Amino acid sequence: MTQPRSAADAAQLPENRRAFAQHPRQWAANRYVYPVVSRRSGGISVGINLNPDKVCNFDCIYCSVNRKDPSTVTHVDIAQVQTELDGLLAIVQSGEIYTHDPFDKISPQLRRLNDVAFSGDGEPTTEPLFPQCVRMAAETLAQRRLAEVKLVLITNASMFHRPAVRGALEFMDQHNGEVWAKLDAGTEAYYKLVDRSAVPLDRILANLAWCCQTRPTVIQTLLMRVHNEPPPPAEVDAYIARLAAIMASGGRIKLVQLYTVARQTTESYATRLTTEELEAIASRVRSTLVGVPVAVFD
Ligand code: SF4
Repeated sequence: MTQPRSAADAAQLPENRRAFAQHPRQWAANRYVYPVVSRRSGGISVGINLNPDKVCNFDCIYCSVNRKDPSTVTHVDIAQVQTELDGLLAIVQSGEIYTHDPFDKISPQLRRLNDVAFSGDGEPTTEPLFPQCVRMAAETLAQRRLAEVKLVLITNASMFHRPAVRGALEFMDQHNGEVWAKLDAGTEAYYKLVDRSAVPLDRILANLAWCCQTRPTVIQTLLMRVHNEPPPPAEVDAYIARLAAIMASGGRIKLVQLYTVARQTTESYATRLTTEELEAIASRVRSTLVGVPVAVFD
């Protein structure tokens, strides 16, 4: 077989797809910091879990966090986060990580550190120490001469109206930051069905508009079957109309990532779409949001 030339080509190889499917938020005895091979990052992403208590202000039916087993860590110890982050970055920089499963099996194209990501078992921006953690992560990367590594926030956009969160995002803008914000629905009814949050959709949309007006933002959308029904066409239209409205308000969408269920879900009735179904929705997004890249992860 010929060697894949790009990370996108390499992503299709079986050994890499196996690594993508393994997403334990655990590394050695660490409490907060873990590495993953991330298809959406095209390489290694070092995650920081700021919600070790597994509390989230959303209750997505497709969530893969196991909340049945109680957490033994209930608060964020920023000194410990810094120790774990620095230690894991050293392991990645030295190449030692590629002696550990599943990192030892991935293609050369994916053997690169793409980002440090605030993600984990809940919404990172609800953690009061989030702004300090962002600054600490930027300083740690700078000390390791890794300033080219991105700082990524993976978020449900529910807290962008808080001044401290806005300040942290503006700091990220100055430190190679990127926001990957979730929008799973176009109507309040579907949003309540799939994300099950007390936060109104209007607030999410207002926060997304602010974020996109302030910086180019990646929109992440998980599409699935709910009780065996794919998203209704009217729902997809409403979702696309929400993104179009954000752009009409001056918002910049850097990329739309469409993906589907890949791991164990909270509700068994949340199941995968086919590649063809995802691509059909992607075509509709592309034809309306002209010029916005749309990536499909099946
Ligand atoms: S926002 Fe993320 S962590 Fe929270 S319930 Fe949804 S998928 Fe799970």
